[in-house]
Amino acid sequence: MRVFNCDHCGHLVFFDSVQCVHCGSTLAFLPDALTMAALAPAPQDGAGLWRRMGGRGTAQYSGRLYRLCHNHTEHQACNFAVPANDYDEYCVSCRQTRVLPDLSETANRGRWMQIEAAKRRLFYTLARLGLEPAPGRPGPIFEFLADLPGGPSILTGHRSGTITLNVAEADDDERARRRIALGEPYRTLIGHLRHESGHFYWDQLVRDGGRLEAFRSMFGDESQDYTAALDAHYAKGNDVGDWAERHVSAYAAAHPWEDWAETWAHYLHMIDLLETSASYRTEITVPGIYGAQRSFALDPFTKPAPDFDTMLLQLVPLTLLLNSLTRSLGQPDAYPFALAGEALDKLRFVHDMVREAANRPAVPAAATATAPLPKAAAAPESPGVPAPASAPIAKKSIKKIAN
Ligand SMILES: [Zn+2]
Ligand SMILES: [Zn+2]
Ligand SMILES: [Zn+2]
Repeated sequence: MRVFNCDHCGHLVFFDSVQCVHCGSTLAFLPDALTMAALAPAPQDGAGLWRRMGGRGTAQYSGRLYRLCHNHTEHQACNFAVPANDYDEYCVSCRQTRVLPDLSETANRGRWMQIEAAKRRLFYTLARLGLEPAPGRPGPIFEFLADLPGGPSILTGHRSGTITLNVAEADDDERARRRIALGEPYRTLIGHLRHESGHFYWDQLVRDGGRLEAFRSMFGDESQDYTAALDAHYAKGNDVGDWAERHVSAYAAAHPWEDWAETWAHYLHMIDLLETSASYRTEITVPGIYGAQRSFALDPFTKPAPDFDTMLLQLVPLTLLLNSLTRSLGQPDAYPFALAGEALDKLRFVHDMVREAANRPAVPAAATATAPLPKAAAAPESPGVPAPASAPIAKKSIKKIAN
């Protein structure tokens, strides 16, 4: 994630900021401009309306009007703005959440806020890739659920466009316990959301995009029994076998759908790391056949976009630097991965598919409503981790409390 500058005073501000620590301006992220902005109240235009400040604090009276997301005004749980002419009181990220845990429980409230913060980061990266929800281009729906005493355990997963996340994943102790129990080197909220979004975009780009054959030649036949494959994987032990030559993670070896979702998540890790590094103008040394070459980290979202090989060449020294920095602080490696062989080909496959999709215009809503079902629509849904049947999707304006 890149860093930003306050419109009013130029001070460094971050994606999560709500106020400039230097000049005190109210800050919000403008999803329509994909940037952080300093906002000034515009009461003359209507209650609750704000306008972006001009350069270095000059009032910009011709600028677009915004509201703050309802989850900001109600809960201080979001820093996205909503264009004033948008019908929805929730921002583009919050409106995708349809089911919440019981927020009257203080712990759930904190968990939900952390998950929404990670989800806004996912939204940003998807938007930079041209994949965010837009008219004619659906995005994933989210359900955040808590285990209830005596009830079934909530499984994190994706089904038919809905991503379910057990809010216990927001608790550091619980997430660490699961990470160790499953033999995983990496487990984070943003990692979960990136992974599950991979299943959503598999449906969109691979299954419905006519790319099943290409997918199968790279990742294998996803029509094999999903539940049996996962059972067999865990019976063997997650981190066992020679998965490292062919997969980005041990879990990716469980089933082709998981291989894709893990690779997709890793691709999003990769471009976020590069964007952050480019934002700080990080200079890296890349060893090559003619000796070491020094270059600045490339922003993966510049136009024309850097090619995959160049990004990969930069990723390796960047992650070495990153791990050395965290070791300096006595922390475990922030990037506990070593990519090789086929895993890199799979990352390249995701890169090519994302770039292809980004060049495709969104289909107008009216056209999607009448378009014939794509041929592959009868293929099984991915993945088979079931969302609880007792969690109906609530109208977004009501925000149903499920449990
Ligand atoms: Zn400022
Ligand atoms: Zn919001
Ligand atoms: Zn998965």
